[in-house]
Amino acid sequence: MSFLSLTGIQASYGPSQALFGVDLSLDEGKVLALMGRNGMGKTTTIKVICRMLAQSAGQVIFAGRDLGATPSHKAARAGIGLVPEGRRCFPNLTVHENLIAAARPGEWDVKRIAGLFPRLEERADQMAASLSGGEQQMLAIARALMTNPTLLILDEATEGLAPVVRQDIWAAISRLKAETNLSLLVVDKSIRELSAVADQAVIIERGRTVWQDDFANLSHDVTERYLGV
Ligand code: ATP
Repeated sequence: MSFLSLTGIQASYGPSQALFGVDLSLDEGKVLALMGRNGMGKTTTIKVICRMLAQSAGQVIFAGRDLGATPSHKAARAGIGLVPEGRRCFPNLTVHENLIAAARPGEWDVKRIAGLFPRLEERADQMAASLSGGEQQMLAIARALMTNPTLLILDEATEGLAPVVRQDIWAAISRLKAETNLSLLVVDKSIRELSAVADQAVIIERGRTVWQDDFANLSHDVTERYLGV
Protein backbone atom coordinates (compact mmCIF):
# COMPACT_ATOMS: atom_id res chain seq x y z
CA MET A 1 0.00 0.00 0.00
CA SER A 2 1.19 3.52 -0.74
CA PHE A 3 2.46 5.66 2.10
CA LEU A 4 0.77 8.70 0.57
CA SER A 5 -2.02 8.48 -1.93
CA LEU A 6 -4.24 11.09 -3.50
CA THR A 7 -7.22 10.00 -5.53
CA GLY A 8 -9.51 12.22 -7.57
CA ILE A 9 -8.52 15.40 -5.76
CA GLN A 10 -10.42 18.53 -6.71
CA ALA A 11 -9.82 21.85 -4.99
CA SER A 12 -10.69 25.51 -5.47
CA TYR A 13 -9.65 28.95 -4.36
CA GLY A 14 -13.05 30.46 -3.69
CA PRO A 15 -14.96 30.26 -6.97
CA SER A 16 -11.86 29.44 -8.99
CA GLN A 17 -11.18 25.70 -9.36
CA ALA A 18 -7.48 24.78 -9.54
CA LEU A 19 -7.48 20.99 -9.23
CA PHE A 20 -9.81 18.80 -11.29
CA GLY A 21 -8.58 15.27 -10.59
CA VAL A 22 -5.14 14.79 -9.08
CA ASP A 23 -4.02 11.23 -8.40
CA LEU A 24 -0.63 10.36 -7.03
CA SER A 25 0.99 7.74 -4.90
CA LEU A 26 4.27 7.62 -3.05
CA ASP A 27 5.73 4.48 -1.48
CA GLU A 28 7.41 4.54 1.90
CA GLY A 29 11.06 5.58 1.82
CA LYS A 30 10.86 6.60 -1.84
CA VAL A 31 11.25 9.89 -3.69
CA LEU A 32 8.38 11.15 -5.85
CA ALA A 33 8.91 13.95 -8.35
CA LEU A 34 5.78 16.08 -8.79
CA MET A 35 6.09 17.78 -12.16
CA GLY A 36 4.14 20.09 -14.44
CA ARG A 37 4.47 23.44 -16.14
CA ASN A 38 3.97 26.70 -14.23
CA GLY A 39 0.50 27.20 -12.82
CA MET A 40 -0.61 23.59 -13.41
CA GLY A 41 -1.38 22.92 -9.74
CA LYS A 42 1.75 21.56 -8.06
CA THR A 43 1.73 23.96 -5.11
CA THR A 44 -2.04 23.62 -4.77
CA THR A 45 -1.63 19.83 -4.58
CA ILE A 46 0.95 20.31 -1.83
CA LYS A 47 -1.44 22.63 0.03
CA VAL A 48 -4.08 19.91 -0.04
CA ILE A 49 -1.62 17.32 1.29
CA CYS A 50 -0.59 19.70 4.10
CA ARG A 51 -4.24 20.54 4.79
CA MET A 52 -3.77 24.24 4.09
CA LEU A 53 -6.53 23.85 1.51
CA ALA A 54 -9.42 21.40 1.82
CA GLN A 55 -10.30 19.33 -1.22
CA SER A 56 -13.84 19.55 -2.54
CA ALA A 57 -13.67 15.97 -3.84
CA GLY A 58 -11.31 13.02 -3.56
CA GLN A 59 -9.25 11.48 -0.80
CA VAL A 60 -5.84 11.93 0.81
CA ILE A 61 -4.55 8.86 2.60
CA PHE A 62 -1.31 9.26 4.53
CA ALA A 63 0.28 6.49 6.60
CA GLY A 64 -2.96 4.54 6.46
CA ARG A 65 -5.04 7.48 7.64
CA ASP A 66 -7.64 9.53 5.81
CA LEU A 67 -6.54 13.15 6.25
CA GLY A 68 -9.95 14.52 5.25
CA ALA A 69 -10.72 15.99 8.65
CA THR A 70 -7.16 16.91 9.67
CA PRO A 71 -6.58 20.65 10.15
CA SER A 72 -3.29 22.17 8.93
CA HIS A 73 -1.84 22.63 12.41
CA LYS A 74 -2.09 18.87 12.88
CA ALA A 75 -0.39 17.96 9.60
CA ALA A 76 3.04 18.32 11.23
CA ARG A 77 1.91 16.16 14.11
CA ALA A 78 0.76 13.56 11.58
CA GLY A 79 4.34 13.49 10.23
CA ILE A 80 4.27 15.86 7.26
CA GLY A 81 7.17 18.31 6.99
CA LEU A 82 6.90 21.09 4.41
CA VAL A 83 9.65 23.19 2.88
CA PRO A 84 7.45 25.82 1.29
CA GLU A 85 8.09 27.75 -1.89
CA GLY A 86 9.93 30.92 -0.91
CA ARG A 87 11.75 29.30 2.05
CA ARG A 88 9.93 30.93 4.90
CA CYS A 89 11.89 31.28 8.15
CA PHE A 90 11.58 33.73 11.02
CA PRO A 91 13.88 36.53 9.78
CA ASN A 92 14.38 38.12 13.21
CA LEU A 93 15.28 34.93 15.00
CA THR A 94 18.75 33.41 14.91
CA VAL A 95 19.42 30.19 13.02
CA HIS A 96 19.46 28.29 16.31
CA GLU A 97 16.20 29.88 17.46
CA ASN A 98 14.56 29.06 14.14
CA LEU A 99 15.51 25.41 14.57
CA ILE A 100 14.35 25.20 18.17
CA ALA A 101 11.03 26.87 17.34
CA ALA A 102 10.25 24.07 14.89
CA ALA A 103 11.43 21.17 17.05
CA ARG A 104 9.32 18.14 17.77
CA PRO A 105 10.69 15.05 19.52
CA GLY A 106 12.57 12.51 17.41
CA GLU A 107 15.91 11.68 15.81
CA TRP A 108 16.41 15.07 14.22
CA ASP A 109 17.90 17.60 16.59
CA VAL A 110 20.30 20.54 16.27
CA LYS A 111 23.32 18.21 16.35
CA ARG A 112 22.09 16.01 13.53
CA ILE A 113 21.17 19.08 11.48
CA ALA A 114 24.78 20.28 11.90
CA GLY A 115 25.94 17.02 10.32
CA LEU A 116 23.75 17.62 7.27
CA PHE A 117 24.34 21.37 6.98
CA PRO A 118 27.63 22.35 8.69
CA ARG A 119 27.12 25.89 7.36
CA LEU A 120 24.08 26.33 9.62
CA GLU A 121 26.13 25.37 12.67
CA GLU A 122 28.70 28.02 11.75
CA ARG A 123 25.88 30.56 11.46
CA ALA A 124 23.94 29.41 14.55
CA ASP A 125 23.88 32.83 16.23
CA GLN A 126 23.23 34.86 13.10
CA MET A 127 19.78 36.30 12.33
CA ALA A 128 18.04 34.30 9.61
CA ALA A 129 17.51 37.53 7.65
CA SER A 130 21.29 37.91 7.26
CA LEU A 131 21.78 34.50 5.61
CA SER A 132 22.39 34.03 1.89
CA GLY A 133 19.57 32.57 -0.22
CA GLY A 134 21.18 29.14 -0.16
CA GLU A 135 21.68 29.22 3.59
CA GLN A 136 18.06 30.28 4.07
CA GLN A 137 17.01 27.31 1.96
CA MET A 138 19.15 25.01 4.10
CA LEU A 139 17.49 26.52 7.17
CA ALA A 140 14.03 25.96 5.68
CA ILE A 141 14.87 22.28 5.05
CA ALA A 142 16.43 22.00 8.51
CA ARG A 143 13.32 23.50 10.12
CA ALA A 144 11.12 20.95 8.36
CA LEU A 145 13.43 18.13 9.49
CA MET A 146 13.31 19.41 13.09
CA THR A 147 9.58 18.57 13.08
CA ASN A 148 10.74 14.95 12.67
CA PRO A 149 8.51 14.14 9.73
CA THR A 150 8.02 10.82 7.97
CA LEU A 151 7.14 12.66 4.75
CA LEU A 152 9.19 15.65 3.63
CA ILE A 153 7.80 17.90 0.90
CA LEU A 154 10.14 20.25 -0.95
CA ASP A 155 8.45 22.87 -3.14
CA GLU A 156 10.95 24.38 -5.59
CA ALA A 157 13.80 24.11 -3.09
CA THR A 158 16.51 25.02 -5.61
CA GLU A 159 14.62 27.85 -7.32
CA GLY A 160 16.64 31.03 -7.75
CA LEU A 161 19.85 29.66 -6.26
CA ALA A 162 23.32 29.78 -7.78
CA PRO A 163 24.37 26.49 -9.45
CA VAL A 164 26.95 25.65 -6.80
CA VAL A 165 24.41 26.16 -4.01
CA ARG A 166 21.83 24.09 -5.88
CA GLN A 167 24.34 21.25 -5.88
CA ASP A 168 24.58 21.51 -2.07
CA ILE A 169 20.80 21.22 -1.79
CA TRP A 170 20.69 18.22 -4.17
CA ALA A 171 23.52 16.60 -2.21
CA ALA A 172 21.51 17.02 1.01
CA ILE A 173 18.43 15.49 -0.66
CA SER A 174 20.54 12.54 -1.85
CA ARG A 175 21.86 12.04 1.67
CA LEU A 176 18.34 12.10 3.11
CA LYS A 177 17.36 9.44 0.61
CA ALA A 178 20.39 7.27 1.33
CA GLU A 179 20.63 7.69 5.09
CA THR A 180 17.02 7.91 6.31
CA ASN A 181 13.69 6.21 5.78
CA LEU A 182 11.99 9.49 4.92
CA SER A 183 9.55 9.57 2.03
CA LEU A 184 10.15 12.62 -0.13
CA LEU A 185 7.89 14.55 -2.48
CA VAL A 186 9.95 16.95 -4.57
CA VAL A 187 8.82 19.72 -6.92
CA ASP A 188 11.63 21.01 -9.09
CA LYS A 189 12.16 22.11 -12.66
CA SER A 190 15.45 20.31 -13.17
CA ILE A 191 14.72 16.92 -14.68
CA ARG A 192 18.41 16.05 -14.79
CA GLU A 193 18.85 16.57 -11.06
CA LEU A 194 15.54 14.88 -10.26
CA SER A 195 16.58 11.83 -12.26
CA ALA A 196 19.45 11.22 -9.84
CA VAL A 197 17.14 10.92 -6.83
CA ALA A 198 13.54 10.30 -7.90
CA ASP A 199 12.06 6.78 -7.90
CA GLN A 200 8.58 7.75 -9.00
CA ALA A 201 7.08 10.60 -10.99
CA VAL A 202 3.72 12.24 -11.51
CA ILE A 203 2.89 14.95 -14.03
CA ILE A 204 -0.06 17.27 -13.65
CA GLU A 205 -1.53 19.44 -16.33
CA ARG A 206 -4.31 21.96 -15.74
CA GLY A 207 -5.05 20.48 -12.34
CA ARG A 208 -5.21 16.85 -13.50
CA THR A 209 -2.82 13.93 -13.32
CA VAL A 210 -1.86 13.07 -16.88
CA TRP A 211 1.06 10.70 -16.30
CA GLN A 212 2.28 8.62 -13.37
CA ASP A 213 4.91 5.87 -13.31
CA ASP A 214 8.44 5.00 -12.22
CA PHE A 215 10.72 7.94 -12.93
CA ALA A 216 12.90 5.65 -15.06
CA ASN A 217 9.99 5.26 -17.49
CA LEU A 218 9.77 8.99 -18.17
CA SER A 219 10.43 9.20 -21.89
CA HIS A 220 11.51 12.12 -24.00
CA ASP A 221 8.08 12.12 -25.66
CA VAL A 222 6.36 12.53 -22.30
CA THR A 223 8.62 15.33 -21.08
CA GLU A 224 8.30 17.12 -24.40
CA ARG A 225 4.55 16.79 -24.44
CA TYR A 226 3.79 17.79 -20.85
CA LEU A 227 6.81 19.77 -19.70
CA GLY A 228 7.98 21.31 -22.95
CA VAL A 229 11.57 20.05 -22.60
P1 ATP B 1 4.24 27.29 -10.21
O1 ATP B 1 5.23 26.35 -10.77
O2 ATP B 1 4.12 28.54 -11.04
O3 ATP B 1 4.37 27.54 -8.74
P2 ATP B 1 2.06 25.41 -9.72
O4 ATP B 1 2.03 24.24 -10.64
O5 ATP B 1 2.57 25.23 -8.37
O6 ATP B 1 2.80 26.61 -10.47
P3 ATP B 1 -0.31 26.46 -8.48
O7 ATP B 1 0.42 27.51 -7.73
O8 ATP B 1 -0.80 25.29 -7.72
O9 ATP B 1 0.57 25.94 -9.70
O10 ATP B 1 -1.53 27.14 -9.25
C1 ATP B 1 -2.57 26.39 -9.88
C2 ATP B 1 -3.68 27.33 -10.31
O11 ATP B 1 -4.30 27.89 -9.15
C3 ATP B 1 -3.19 28.51 -11.14
O12 ATP B 1 -4.16 28.76 -12.13
C4 ATP B 1 -3.12 29.64 -10.17
O13 ATP B 1 -3.36 30.86 -10.78
C5 ATP B 1 -4.24 29.31 -9.19
N1 ATP B 1 -3.96 29.80 -7.82
C6 ATP B 1 -2.86 29.51 -7.07
N2 ATP B 1 -2.94 30.12 -5.86
C7 ATP B 1 -4.11 30.81 -5.85
C8 ATP B 1 -4.78 31.62 -4.89
N3 ATP B 1 -4.24 31.86 -3.69
N4 ATP B 1 -5.97 32.19 -5.25
C9 ATP B 1 -6.52 31.95 -6.47
N5 ATP B 1 -5.96 31.17 -7.42
C10 ATP B 1 -4.77 30.61 -7.12
